Amino acid sequence: MNDYERLLSDYQKLKDEFEVYQDFAESIIQRLSESLTKSEKKLDSITNIVEVSKYINSNLREDNLISMINDMIIGILGVKYSSIYLLKEDCTDEFIIKATNSINSDSDVLKEHILSSRLDGKVFVINDNDPLFKNFSGREDIHSIIGVPIYLREEFKGYIIVEHSLCDFFSQEHSSFISSIANQIGIALENNFLYNRIKESSIRDPLLGIFNRRYFFELIESKVKEAPENNFAIVMIDIDKFKKVNDTFGHQFGDKTLIEVSKIIAQSVGENDYVARYGGEEIVIYLGEVNNPVGVFEKIDKLRSDISETIIELDDIQHSVTASFGISFYPKDGGNVQDVLSVADLMLYDAKHTGRNRVVSSWI
Ligand code: GH3
Ligand code: MG
Ligand code: MG
Repeated sequence: MNDYERLLSDYQKLKDEFEVYQDFAESIIQRLSESLTKSEKKLDSITNIVEVSKYINSNLREDNLISMINDMIIGILGVKYSSIYLLKEDCTDEFIIKATNSINSDSDVLKEHILSSRLDGKVFVINDNDPLFKNFSGREDIHSIIGVPIYLREEFKGYIIVEHSLCDFFSQEHSSFISSIANQIGIALENNFLYNRIKESSIRDPLLGIFNRRYFFELIESKVKEAPENNFAIVMIDIDKFKKVNDTFGHQFGDKTLIEVSKIIAQSVGENDYVARYGGEEIVIYLGEVNNPVGVFEKIDKLRSDISETIIELDDIQHSVTASFGISFYPKDGGNVQDVLSVADLMLYDAKHTGRNRVVSSWI
């Protein structure tokens, strides 16, 4: 081998080695860049999740929070449709669509999947090269769907259903992202539930479930302020000889009596009327939009008779009670709520002093 050939062979060896190193370096660079992209993606989705939870937390009081969350899913994932289904209260197999932009949300295909998947409450993904829904012409077909369950304290509450026009669109990352949103929805529902419970307990009587006196005043005063020209009637009710009922049959039977009487009263009123506990065993009714005092008298006298005919039972005690009623009218008896209530009180006093189990009205 002459010098030239030796040089050429050395050169070839070096070149081969260089190429091996070059391939190696390139593959490392490639791997690093892939993992960087992955990290960036992860960071991106973590940032998204953090942003979404911040946003949800600052809007927990919003009535349309669920719709806002649904819009976020569509925006962040760039998907075609998203819908949020929640189980109907006290139901295990009926859902309400709380938010949707999907033309398919009511379709039987989706409903069947949700119904069958609710039993194991897991994430489900459906992919099909054929369109999953028979859409009208001009609409983009759907080829993949992901369903992610929503839980509230380990209890299944519903599904987030996201649709895409590409087959095999949904990855593990999509599933994780939607799951974290489902958790946020669970928290939002819990919060809403607690908020409503506190709100309800601040306006209702805990024993009778009807409004309390403070809220009743607030309600009527705001009604008068809103529309001072609207007529209404006030009915004050007091159970007759109730002390004796307590003394004879015990306080527990007295409570049961109050509960039953308030139920009969609450069931007798319409959608423009309100019933509240005014005091111990005194109940007050606001009858909205009344124009006929005779009609009001007859309605309340029927209520009086219904109460007197109801047998209240507790263990082996059976007993019935009567009540007395006083009716007044706005604006005839006064230009403000307090004055109208005072006249109803006077009428009630009259009913008590003229024999009880009676209705006395200021107008007939
Ligand atoms: P009247 O016919 O004059 O109304 O006679 P009364 O005995 O009903 O007299 P009054 O209305 O003054 O009596 C109210 C009684 O109601 C006194 C109280 O012991 C009883 N009471 C008030 N709140 C409750 C309650 O939540 N549960 C029970 N069991 N009794 C109550
Ligand atoms: Mg009484
Ligand atoms: Mg009383």
